[in-house]
Amino acid sequence: MTTVSSSAIQLSIASRMDGLRGEGAFEVLASARALERKGRQIFHLEIGEPDFPTAPHIVEAGVRALQNGETKYGPAGGLLELRVAIANHLTTHGINAAPDDVVVAPGSKPILLYSALALLESGDEALIPDPAYPIYDSVVRFAGAHPVTYRLDSSNNFVPDVEAIAASITSRTRILVLNTPQNPTGGVIDAGRLAALAQLAEANDLIVIVDEIYRPFNYGAPPVPSILTIPGMRERTILVDGFSKAYAMTGWRLGYGLVPTPLAARFALLALNDHACVPAFVQRAGIAALTGTQEPLHSMINEFAVRRQLISERLSAIPGVRITAPAGAFYAFPDVSAATEAAGINVAQLASKLLNDYGVALLPGTAFGAGGEGHLRLSFATARSDIDRALTLVRECFTSLTS
Ligand code: PLP
Repeated sequence: MTTVSSSAIQLSIASRMDGLRGEGAFEVLASARALERKGRQIFHLEIGEPDFPTAPHIVEAGVRALQNGETKYGPAGGLLELRVAIANHLTTHGINAAPDDVVVAPGSKPILLYSALALLESGDEALIPDPAYPIYDSVVRFAGAHPVTYRLDSSNNFVPDVEAIAASITSRTRILVLNTPQNPTGGVIDAGRLAALAQLAEANDLIVIVDEIYRPFNYGAPPVPSILTIPGMRERTILVDGFSKAYAMTGWRLGYGLVPTPLAARFALLALNDHACVPAFVQRAGIAALTGTQEPLHSMINEFAVRRQLISERLSAIPGVRITAPAGAFYAFPDVSAATEAAGINVAQLASKLLNDYGVALLPGTAFGAGGEGHLRLSFATARSDIDRALTLVRECFTSLTS
């Protein structure tokens, strides 16, 4: 327990709060906005948010729902029509999904929290990648359990090291977290590794949480089918997905989980206790996103493919930077260790220098765990012209550091 003193009272904060962590992206965004308020020009490569607007037909569906008076409470686990649309959408990706196993939430984030709260006892262990989206570590700790990190192979498209994962499993391991395509590395897990991981999960009776929020952003090779399509995995896997990235709907707050049947009612109960229900107009917008034209999504993917090329070329031309073009998501994760070592600084100091001295907001790899040391994460979900100008400044910074 932590005791906080203010002038009037001593407030005791429950110790479970000590486990919760923040998100580097939101912290850097706040610092960048503070600089903008002082009149500085900042290039935003920090936040994982498509710069595209939400497509008009999606917005119109939300507005129409409000005009039609859909302003009341609804079912905690989501409107049936949306759960049907999600199940149909997943079925087109080869995933056997029933609407009753879909739980709708305000973003995909709550599904991560519900998974930890519903499955982990105090002292249990959850295997999470390092580097990784920081909320995995946070929710596992909040549930009183231990995150046990596994490394990603930076020499091979940042895929999980299956042998290292196998070696980390103990009698307390309950959960294996996978994220593909991955934030922050852009790594995509190949079919062979998914099969090996599925086998490992089955042999050790693990629940797999697979975060596929970046599924549409897969460049190059044909998309790898989800781990849920492997026989036996649907029953032991929680799929985490949402509308934020694919449909440029970050601020709407709409996501979902596809869960093993016994978990659906538990997750809905957590949703009921937490937020009661996602606003109906947001869910109507989600239905329009899934059932309407996919043209806006396809143009966004095409544009991101061009930006991926642009950012990879610009980064690889900078002395002291090594990069392989990311296989998926919309992040470049270059190795800048040669430059940081030459300058005698770490990546957090480098990222801070880039923001404060050059006006480029991006994230140090360590915002995603100790395994991110030596790397920066640059989001390319931002305009080509901004990427271009930001990379000129990044180059200037590296030149001054290494000269
Ligand atoms: N999962 C990953 C890997 C992410 O990068 C993010 C957001 O950046 C989320 C989940 C959460 O997205 P949302 O809650 O907006 O659906």
